[in-house]
Amino acid sequence: MTYSLIIDGKAIDARESFDVINPATGEVLAACPQGSVADLDNAVAAAKRAFPGWAAKPDAERQEALGKIADLIEAYQAELAALITAEQGKPQAGPGAPFEVGGCVAWTRVTQGLSVEPEVLIDTDEERVELIREPVGVVASITPWNWPLMIAVWHVMPALRAGCTVVMKPSPYTPLSTLRLVQMITEAGILPAGVLNVVTGDAEVGDRISGHPDIDKIAFTGSIATGRRIMERAGSTLKRLTLELGGNDAGIVLPGTDMSKRMEDLFWGSFINAGQTCSCLKRLYVHEDDYDAVCEGLANFVGGIKVGNGAEPDTLIGPLSNKMQFDKIVELVEDARTKGARILTGGEKPNGKGYIYPLTIIADATEEMRVVNEEQFGPVLPVIRYSDLDDAIARANALEVGLGASAWGNDPGEAAKVARKLVAGTRWVNRHGVLNPTVPMGGVKQSGIGVEFGEEGLREYTTVQILSIAK
Ligand code: NAD
Repeated sequence: MTYSLIIDGKAIDARESFDVINPATGEVLAACPQGSVADLDNAVAAAKRAFPGWAAKPDAERQEALGKIADLIEAYQAELAALITAEQGKPQAGPGAPFEVGGCVAWTRVTQGLSVEPEVLIDTDEERVELIREPVGVVASITPWNWPLMIAVWHVMPALRAGCTVVMKPSPYTPLSTLRLVQMITEAGILPAGVLNVVTGDAEVGDRISGHPDIDKIAFTGSIATGRRIMERAGSTLKRLTLELGGNDAGIVLPGTDMSKRMEDLFWGSFINAGQTCSCLKRLYVHEDDYDAVCEGLANFVGGIKVGNGAEPDTLIGPLSNKMQFDKIVELVEDARTKGARILTGGEKPNGKGYIYPLTIIADATEEMRVVNEEQFGPVLPVIRYSDLDDAIARANALEVGLGASAWGNDPGEAAKVARKLVAGTRWVNRHGVLNPTVPMGGVKQSGIGVEFGEEGLREYTTVQILSIAK
């Protein structure tokens, strides 16, 4: 398989390439074309040319296009899922790569069915005033490596549905599934040339995107540091931004909660995709009276989960996605160990070539440890003891981030009262990280600006424009 950039409906072979690594083996998976600033400029010019025509299409035509894209993703589910396992690591089994591709289909179909109708604000004998949401223009989508195809779909489908044209820039760690999807859509002739373009690259191309005069909006999912940089640079052209950034989600187990029946939900809420999910539970607060039972339950549960190469059929958790992430997890676990944490299970760096790391439960964790106060993004769960519920809530809320949070209790109503006190974009009760294409998702505090999904998410690809008529 060879991969190309897609600009203005044409496959473009870049002069240079870079290696994409399979994180389960550490071996080179494929050569990926290296996009340049000039490629990016060409893609933006194509998207700008295509915009008026695409924006003027009747809604039904854009909806039909999204329906065809969903059918295409569904038809190629196995191929795309194999590619995601190979470039990103998540397994074929469990909530892994086929689940990610299934999510792409679901999100595309739900977005197909959404619309934002004009509203009549005033209608009198003298005047009629309408609020119309027009497509914002050329959208750049910048995506991370953890759910590479699904997050691309989260950006692109509402943009296309609203009438925008798009330039995508995937993460250099995981560009292949995105390049393949755009290639499929292009070869199937679903969209007019220039409506959907893809260029690879890293910070240099990213910086060109955030300063580009002809990009009207950026949808960015990634780290807080990069989000800040994009926001600063986008100021020069006052671009619209949706920023979905990092989190460090806390969960609080209410005093006296029997967690024995909830271990599976707690596990997947923390460890899906080897913990490399923005809305994974990353710090668990447990009352001192229940502390030992919850720690022991977690350690026993993770003992039954197979970690390894995601291409093997019984693997439920794959490797970390890249060396940078692997090294970071090793460092954070060592930091916790030296500061007095008890590693109940896992915590030992394996000697393989790939980036497989064992599931790790850390007891006696405290806020002095980096694994608690930094977003760790790995298959590691620190469990923190508390004695007073209000104090636990304050500690959960103490960080600068606020993406998700959860409260766990025997009585969901009581747990919901605690959840309401947590400052986060989504507060779950007796579950964590559950997303739905009809439910808006976004961060508060420094976890982001704006929301994705549902009509609220679709509106982010529009600008409010008024039509004011004197009769
Ligand atoms: P990252 O910020 O390093 O990279 C994200 C993307 O930005 C990549 O495509 C990268 O090439 C690009 N980029 C790099 N420098 C840039 C620049 N100067 N200008 C513009 N773009 C640039 O993040 P990552 O390591 O790929 O992803 C992990 C992070 O993403 C975690 O913090 C995680 O929490 C966050 N995340 C958030 C959500 C959410 O919905 N809130 C979802 C998934 C991941």
